[in-house]
Amino acid sequence: MEPIPPLTIPKIPISQPFANFFLYFFLNKFFAVVFLLFLCVPFLLALFSGSRAFPFVSFCFPSPRRPLKIYINPPVVLNPGMKFDLHVHSRYSKDSNSDLDAILTVARARGLDGLAICDHDTVDGGLACARRARELGIGITVIPGVEVSSSKGHILILGIEKNIEPLLSPEETIRQARILGGTVIIPHPFKGSSHGIGSFEGLDIDAAEVFNSRCLFNGANKKALLEAERLGIPPVAGSDSHIPEMVGQAYTEIDASENTVDAVLQAIREGKVSPAGKKTPTPIILRQTAGSVKRKIKTKIFRIT
Ligand SMILES: [Zn+2]
Ligand SMILES: [Zn+2]
Repeated sequence: MEPIPPLTIPKIPISQPFANFFLYFFLNKFFAVVFLLFLCVPFLLALFSGSRAFPFVSFCFPSPRRPLKIYINPPVVLNPGMKFDLHVHSRYSKDSNSDLDAILTVARARGLDGLAICDHDTVDGGLACARRARELGIGITVIPGVEVSSSKGHILILGIEKNIEPLLSPEETIRQARILGGTVIIPHPFKGSSHGIGSFEGLDIDAAEVFNSRCLFNGANKKALLEAERLGIPPVAGSDSHIPEMVGQAYTEIDASENTVDAVLQAIREGKVSPAGKKTPTPIILRQTAGSVKRKIKTKIFRIT
């Protein structure tokens, strides 16, 4: 009878259990996909949301054209001057409940020199806010304006006192604006969810909003900036605030000769502008959107009954 060989325990390297674990993990496609998503989601969120993590992302993948952070903390101020938020909604818009006094109070607290009230398809809010600012004598210049819903999307018209019929073509809307002496700005052109007009090439406009602080993702602002640069259109910024707290979140630095409506509008038309500001925090964008939807539904029910 042969002797039984002594029992030997194979030596397993310490890393073996870990190696087995990763082998199992990646051979199993489901876990691999979950793991990759887990890695990618925060990365993509950082990339598109403009969070503070973004400089890390832009450091890893620098754009060949320009530093990516320019789109996030926008735009370098070239002509330091007066600060104007050129896109503010008041309670005269169906999807906003911003009180005029609250808007003016926040504007002053944020150090704005003025703002443009651009309610949806009505100049009433702008005219009322301009009157209220004069009554209060708080040194905030209010430019009356309107955000006209053209057949292709929204168009801001500043400095007019009469309404323009909605749903006309962009060309006809702008033609009417010119007759009334308005200054024309294309807001959030590439933000589909807010009725952006798309490409503004060929339109007779004075400026393009290249930073709308209500954009959830940065791509729409980036695209607007690139198109404005390509066409040589002056770039401006606005908060598009539908609640008073967000007034002045984005603003335009305007190199005007004096703080009057006429001088400021002339400076915009001459391109003496630089966009500045920050993105509206995502939870507030979602809150504003939810509020807008609620108010729209209420208005519809009210109209039906
Ligand atoms: Zn809009
Ligand atoms: Zn708006």
